[in-house]
Amino acid sequence: MEDAAPVAVVGAGTAGSIVARALASRCRREIVVFEPGGLTDDDNPRFMDQLGEATLWEDLPGPQARALGGGSAVNGLILSGEEPVWLRGLTRFARAGEEGSVGRELLAMGGRHSRLWWHSGRWNPARAMVHVEDEGRISIIRSSVERIESRGDRTFVVLDSGGAVECSHVVLCAGALVTPRILLRSGIGSRVGTGLQNHPTVTFTRRRADDDTGLFDACVVLELLEDGGKGLAVAYERMSGSISGTGMFTVSLMNPVSRGTVDLENVDFRLLGEAPDMRRMAAVVRGFVGSAVRAGIHGLADAAGADAQAVLGMGDADMGTWLESMVQPVSHATSSCAFSTDALGRIPGRPDVSVADASVLRGVPQETPAASVTIEARRIALALGEVLS
Ligand SMILES: Cc1cc2nc3c(=O)[nH]c(=O)nc-3n(C[C@H](O)[C@H](O)[C@H](O)COP(=O)(O)OP(=O)(O)OC[C@H]3O[C@@H](n4cnc5c(N)ncnc54)[C@H](O)[C@@H]3O)c2cc1C
Repeated sequence: MEDAAPVAVVGAGTAGSIVARALASRCRREIVVFEPGGLTDDDNPRFMDQLGEATLWEDLPGPQARALGGGSAVNGLILSGEEPVWLRGLTRFARAGEEGSVGRELLAMGGRHSRLWWHSGRWNPARAMVHVEDEGRISIIRSSVERIESRGDRTFVVLDSGGAVECSHVVLCAGALVTPRILLRSGIGSRVGTGLQNHPTVTFTRRRADDDTGLFDACVVLELLEDGGKGLAVAYERMSGSISGTGMFTVSLMNPVSRGTVDLENVDFRLLGEAPDMRRMAAVVRGFVGSAVRAGIHGLADAAGADAQAVLGMGDADMGTWLESMVQPVSHATSSCAFSTDALGRIPGRPDVSVADASVLRGVPQETPAASVTIEARRIALALGEVLS
């Protein structure tokens, strides 16, 4: 007999929006989405402007969005890998002239225009979900979820505000830093929060040559393959919405092996914690700075304001010390429930709870992560829809 209680989707970010949309098409049960964020001005390609809006962010290490669409409402729009087949036509490559002077420098170093989640508008899966809400197929409750509670054989989603909503199944999609915390507060799962990964990143600043910031903030990338390390350098025309005279380059290691943890108090990415990551990151950074020197680009500074060329003269020990002081996480957290879930996002022993966001990726993707998150969320939701229908 069909259970009368609705299916809950917790978090309507990249994954949650896809999950709610897919479940609405596959299963007849009522779907309730819990999401504290609202709609953003996401037709604005200048994502650096949005980074300054405090209401859009969770208080977590590295900005994590609090918005309908989550990271997809505010992210850098970069799709460094292939376009997923079922999204064909929704992305495009940046065009010559859409970059500013920082992007032109990266082009001179061997970079190329990036594929963007932008085609006359930002790809934000929340739009499709809101459309289904308009049809009355799903409802959205604008609240944060604190935990999941079992009362006998019934399951309740408990809100930060104290209220509780009974559900027949809960799909957690609150992002790789919040989903494990909800599970930990609920006492659900084993090894929750272990396996956390991110792309270790070093930033170089750049005085801008002119005031022309181009159309997109980041539309030129340079791929670096050095000593087993896969690197991605991105040119940003501005440091933030308010600092326009300085641009920056980020250089990320895209194939790290180090894993960290998230618990109720702390997030520790353990960036460069394993020796291969330290060696590969050093090679990628030297490769990037070497490309700048060969392209005749001078005046590149590290995040402390020192001449970036100094890294080319450093031995391994000094380079290691320099990297430890410079490395930062980006907003690419994944895999914090990789060891707590099976291939369909299920938690052993809890048939009423699944996870479908960046937490379930087995490792951080070697490309920018939104595509992998999207593909996994859809795969998990379609399988779940069959079971719940
Ligand atoms: C600033 C920034 C730049 C980025 N740039 C790129 C890029 O250029 N290319 C790329 O591919 N990827 C990029 N990313 C990463 C990409 O957007 C994320 O990997 C992806 O959005 C993760 O999807 P998710 O569904 O796991 O989490 P999110 O999209 O973060 O969604 C989580 C959702 O859960 C909600 N939530 C949080 N706590 C609770 C709670 N307690 N209860 C209910 N809901 C809650 C949040 O409001 C949010 O909507 C960027 C991300 C950010 C933030």
